[in-house]
Amino acid sequence: MTYSVKEIYYTLQGEGAQTGRAAVFCRFAGCNLWSGREKDRPTAVCRFCDTDFVGTDGPGGGKLATAEALADTVARAWLRGQAEDSPAADPGPAGVPAGPLAPRLKSEATPAGAVATDPGPEAAGARPLVVCTGGEPLLQLDDALVAAFHARGFEVAVETNGTQARPAGLDWVCVSPKAGAPLVLTSGDELKLVYPQAGVLPETFEHLAFRHFFLQPMDGPERDSNTALALRYCLTHPRWRLSLQTHKLLGIP
Ligand code: SF4
Repeated sequence: MTYSVKEIYYTLQGEGAQTGRAAVFCRFAGCNLWSGREKDRPTAVCRFCDTDFVGTDGPGGGKLATAEALADTVARAWLRGQAEDSPAADPGPAGVPAGPLAPRLKSEATPAGAVATDPGPEAAGARPLVVCTGGEPLLQLDDALVAAFHARGFEVAVETNGTQARPAGLDWVCVSPKAGAPLVLTSGDELKLVYPQAGVLPETFEHLAFRHFFLQPMDGPERDSNTALALRYCLTHPRWRLSLQTHKLLGIP
């Protein structure tokens, strides 16, 4: 299939349990809960989105004809990101063929494809990480792409609204439920609820099979009061942890 990708970039994960970890973000175009056009926001299922996921015109974005092509592009972004302060190690521009890069990535990882579900903090920190986000990444992320990422040594994480089935073999699943949207994914690594959302109570998710439960204050004009509400909830419900969007606080992508 052809994958439509808004942007691909190297940064630190800013949210949730993997905060501070280096990763390539692969932002897929499109979402099933909003068109991404402002004129449609008042009638969308999800109305608080702060992400531009329309089109394929972002940095590193484009239409990738195969899973191999997309995984190669992500692998180059990973290597370029680390080489930023070491010009001699820079693998070159995006057009450089990725073949020679794959062994280097694999050498940093556990055997490709044999991904441990919980390799521990030291092992996890040493592995290349791709975070598939959007938009809604599970509209496009499929078995072939997961396999292509694994073949290059990547740990594959997804950040999803939880309304779509997921491919097998994902290494990290973060579900962020949205009010009014059916929740299909009821298990994973972390459940990250943007808070507060009208009609959504955190306690209604606590029976689900997630390892971590996060409240993340809704951004926007009410961010300070939303942060106070989330803070208060976490203090009174210790099952929940506070997730701040540290990338916004730091001014990084
Ligand atoms: S589900 Fe996520 S990507 Fe889609 S509109 Fe809502 S916040 Fe944005």
